Amino acid sequence: MVSNFIRDIIDADLAAGRHAGVVTRFPPEPNGYLHIGHAKSICLNFGLARDYQGKCNLRFDDTNPTTEDPEFVESIQNDIRWLGFDFGQVLHASDYFDRLYDLAVKLIKDGNAYVCDLNEEDVREYRGTISEAGRPSPNRDRSPEENLELFARMRAGEFDEGACTVRAKIDMANPNMKMRDPPMYRIMKVTHHRQGDKWCIYPLYDWTHGLSDAFEGITHSICTLEFENNRELYDWFVEKAEPGCVPRQYEFAKLQLTYVMLGKRKLIQMVKEGHVDGWDDPRMPTVAGLRRRGVPPEAIRNFCDLVGVAKNNSTVDIGLFEYAIRDELNARAPRVMCVLNPLKVIIDNWPAGEVEQLEAPSFPHDVGVEGSRQIPFSGELYIEREDFSENPPKRWHRLSRGGEVRLRYGYFITCNRVVKDEAGEIVALHCTYDPDTRGGKAPDGRKVKGTLHWVSAAHSLKAEARLYDRLFATERPGAGDADWLDELNPNSLQRITDARVEPSVAGAEPGARFQFERQGYFCVDPVDGGLHFNRIVTLKDSWAKAGASEPRRKPRSKAPSKPVERTFSDTPLQLVQANPELRGLFEEAVDAHNNPEAIANWLANDVARELKDQSADSLRFTGAAIGQLVALIDDKTISTKIAKDVFEELLATGDAPAEIVDRKGLRQVSDSAALEAVIDEIIAANPDETARYRDGNKNLIGFFVGQVMKATRGKANPKLANELLRARL
Ligand code: ATP
Ligand code: MG
Repeated sequence: MVSNFIRDIIDADLAAGRHAGVVTRFPPEPNGYLHIGHAKSICLNFGLARDYQGKCNLRFDDTNPTTEDPEFVESIQNDIRWLGFDFGQVLHASDYFDRLYDLAVKLIKDGNAYVCDLNEEDVREYRGTISEAGRPSPNRDRSPEENLELFARMRAGEFDEGACTVRAKIDMANPNMKMRDPPMYRIMKVTHHRQGDKWCIYPLYDWTHGLSDAFEGITHSICTLEFENNRELYDWFVEKAEPGCVPRQYEFAKLQLTYVMLGKRKLIQMVKEGHVDGWDDPRMPTVAGLRRRGVPPEAIRNFCDLVGVAKNNSTVDIGLFEYAIRDELNARAPRVMCVLNPLKVIIDNWPAGEVEQLEAPSFPHDVGVEGSRQIPFSGELYIEREDFSENPPKRWHRLSRGGEVRLRYGYFITCNRVVKDEAGEIVALHCTYDPDTRGGKAPDGRKVKGTLHWVSAAHSLKAEARLYDRLFATERPGAGDADWLDELNPNSLQRITDARVEPSVAGAEPGARFQFERQGYFCVDPVDGGLHFNRIVTLKDSWAKAGASEPRRKPRSKAPSKPVERTFSDTPLQLVQANPELRGLFEEAVDAHNNPEAIANWLANDVARELKDQSADSLRFTGAAIGQLVALIDDKTISTKIAKDVFEELLATGDAPAEIVDRKGLRQVSDSAALEAVIDEIIAANPDETARYRDGNKNLIGFFVGQVMKATRGKANPKLANELLRARL
């Protein structure tokens, strides 16, 4: 559990006995669908309740009947449940209208509220400015008796909308504008979706919110930063109304994402004006849209944890969200092959009419999930059109005339002849296969650099692939002078109707998720079902940024360097994508080991450094070696630190990483017994530090881990060392 400032406050409150437990709430206005920003608030509030064995209420903030709709009430409950949280009984601010009315009467009797006849415009005028005090309303000194009578008549419907309001009597000169006699009630002759026509006066947010919290015994009322100035008023109302429990309001930063427009009003506009296909359009940042797209709720929860809880507004890179999605799907989406843009391959030496069933694992080895499927191989296949080039560029590892590639799980093939139509368009490739390379290995040790996905033409199923991309083309839509609607990405949906997918996916349930190898993660559309696939996310960040501004560091050497400079905002993946040499290595590496983020990191940092002075061709290793290196870290054979040494050796010798590890005896010590022996020695040798740690100086854990690493010459598994140390100390 990662701590944050709110958890620190709760810990302190519990330690000091200010509260016996934790009660939070999530208070949506039912005036739209929930978006990922709300999901963040949900994860925070429900997450706190879960971790502190407390409770989180779902309370609809339904005080504005003009914008509310039961459709929204329904969708909000659905979305919260889908996100994985349980709210028990559903609560509504409108259930407290009677209690709020009675407390308003109390405030009036106590001389703390009055009925004001100023209209909206005058109220604003009288309020003053930040630098100037406001003026008192002419009705400010009405007697409690007169106010009570007027309030009763407001409720009885005797006045028109806008004729009068009830205002708190606080301080018209208060530097906090919210405290200058804020309104508590307004007249609205509108039917409420739950209360019907019982009311024609409706309480305002500030009056309602703190008291609803108090009625429910909320201990920590968490809202976003824009309510910071409302906190004083929140406290004032709770104090004057004296409802018993005293909740406290805390503010955190709203979630904002690059390339994403949040804010219900904007989302409503997009839906109403048809810029998207409804609230659950898979491009929408709504929870319903993300669900339809195929994003698992776990990925959203993990993402919210990754982002943390901050006190300052900042915008989170959408890449982080995509990372969280890939990370979740990597472990659970079975791999299949789908050709999005098919090009026919005819294997001339394949025995006529023969079909061979190949067994292929559903998950790569490092994911550690069992399962396999059968893939038919035949004399007519499809490969991706982009995987063939007539005029291949340098370092082209895919298919070309005369070139040999591996078909994943199948055979090596060589292209001999290209067939074109009258227009010059390539319609088929004639190839031969090497029968000795079944399973992708040549007995003579011959290597090929590229591995392609494919399907058997006759056995594959025609499928629709909806390639979703970011809905906005600009990093901060709506932030500049342009009309935000002009910033919509015109290519946010590409619909491919004649993709070809391997037969094992036949009968997949709506909502089932797959990785289409080398293409991305896809989900059977939960609504349309069948072979309609939504692309959830690509395998790598496709929004590579060309044209770097503001280089982070100057190239070290004066040699005319290739563009491997990074900018502040480039992620490693973006950097790798923008550089053709790195991209080539990346593809080989990811083929060898599926951990694109980690591989991109090595390429963008360690390998890019080497490429300043030499070309990728002159390196002693291929991209696959980087994949193997990352695999060794991932399976805990070596630590990241040791991996740096292995990398140096790899640069010098070009030997396989596993071989280097064995030769140099670098295998990480992950054996508890061996580590415990080392730890005991270290504890014995450092009595002072041990005593201080036991006295509560927990920061010393870093010192102890350092000692263990030193004693094992960097070979201890630091995480395990940390755990064992804590237990021993
Ligand atoms: P929007 O700003 O999108 O119109 P809202 O704040 O009006 O949303 P509410 O229904 O009032 O929507 O919000 C319910 C809860 O969700 C509130 O506690 C609010 O602070 C929180 N919330 C809304 N947007 C975000 C966000 N972007 N990040 C974190 N929490 C948010
Ligand atoms: Mg709101």
